[in-house]
Amino acid sequence: MDAVSNKDKARHFSLLVLPGDGIGPDIVGETLRIVDWFGDYLGIQFDIEHGLVGGASIEQCGEPISDAVVEKALQADAILFGAVGGPQWDDLPRAIRPEMGILRLRQDLDLYANLRPAICFPEIVGASSLRPELVDSVDILIVRESTSGVYFGEPRGIETRADGVRRAIDTQTSTETEIARVCRSAFEIARRRSHKVCSVDKANVMETGVLWRTVANEIGLEYPDVSLSHMYADNCAMQLLREPKQFDVIVTDNLFGDILSDEAAALCGSLGLLPSATLEMQDPTRPQRALYEPIHGSAPDIKNMDAANPLASILSFGMCLNYSLNSSAASELLNQAVRHTLAQGLRTADIATDGEEVVSGAAMTNAIIAGLDEISADEQRTALS
Ligand code: NAD
Repeated sequence: MDAVSNKDKARHFSLLVLPGDGIGPDIVGETLRIVDWFGDYLGIQFDIEHGLVGGASIEQCGEPISDAVVEKALQADAILFGAVGGPQWDDLPRAIRPEMGILRLRQDLDLYANLRPAICFPEIVGASSLRPELVDSVDILIVRESTSGVYFGEPRGIETRADGVRRAIDTQTSTETEIARVCRSAFEIARRRSHKVCSVDKANVMETGVLWRTVANEIGLEYPDVSLSHMYADNCAMQLLREPKQFDVIVTDNLFGDILSDEAAALCGSLGLLPSATLEMQDPTRPQRALYEPIHGSAPDIKNMDAANPLASILSFGMCLNYSLNSSAASELLNQAVRHTLAQGLRTADIATDGEEVVSGAAMTNAIIAGLDEISADEQRTALS
């Protein structure tokens, strides 16, 4: 019988790579070097396909994402997304702007639970605008509902009333099903963390808030081992600055989640550090599909300069290791290598403080790969001894 090579025996995992615009291709390119490393380490064959999204897709196909790319996304196990947008597409009508590419992916794949960790690495605590003792070791996970709410509600638009006054309308809407599934995701994740969920709404002034709180309480009954608290969104914005360490998992709607997760991001110093994952509804017959992307945009001011910090994108792949490949150990190994690199003093421009030497995005990735080699070799030595 023919010998079966390691590659043939490897588990396959299909990854659709959508670099997008601006620094998207730079940071995703660096991340693929890390994907390669973990392919060898875990014995996984990553089957990688590339596609166009955002401005890059508008230029080539006339639309921010094509049906063919959406179809590829539906077939993939996970999607690694860069960032979209740039000044040259700012004046296009809303329906064909670059960001419609990501909104369509979220809707067509029903990616409803957007997970945004805000982790403050002690090695760069000085990059935060808050005092070190307030943010050191902050580890918050914001679970944001991402397929409903005011960004999707109808009717919407700007009209001119009979008296000539212009009037803008957005509609905030969520069904109990949409609220329940994202709350369930938050409770499930809390079970893997500190068993604490804070649900954030505006139940004092909004009907959607009243339903949000009612449903969160109902789902909470299914998780008696997780403690559930409630907070109004405005208070949460204040508490994140006053005492961020009180939070572990926060679950909230699309609009509040968008704002609060950017605020939590600022606690950690730089947009260039913050990853995210967006998960689809769990289907027991196959692994949960998800999209992984940094929370920052396409940073056109630094594109093609090898200046972008690749960490947010690399840590997004770390979330893929955890949530799609179910390997919290591999994700933790990557976190350790990132911390090791930061502890050695490597800084891209966005996280360098006065007088610190600035390195390129590629140099940062080189150091992470060297850290992965070193830490995994140490682990092997310990296991063998
Ligand atoms: P941005 O996040 O692109 O940039 C804000 C600032 O942070 C810039 O100074 C930029 O240089 C810096 N920055 C961002 N990421 C960095 C990184 N990895 N390393 C180093 N510095 C980094 O936000 P913006 O300037 O408001 O938007 C630029 C474009 O990105 C716009 O077209 C916007 O619509 C788009 N955008 C896209 C997404 C997305 O694709 N998910 C998200 C936000 C903004």
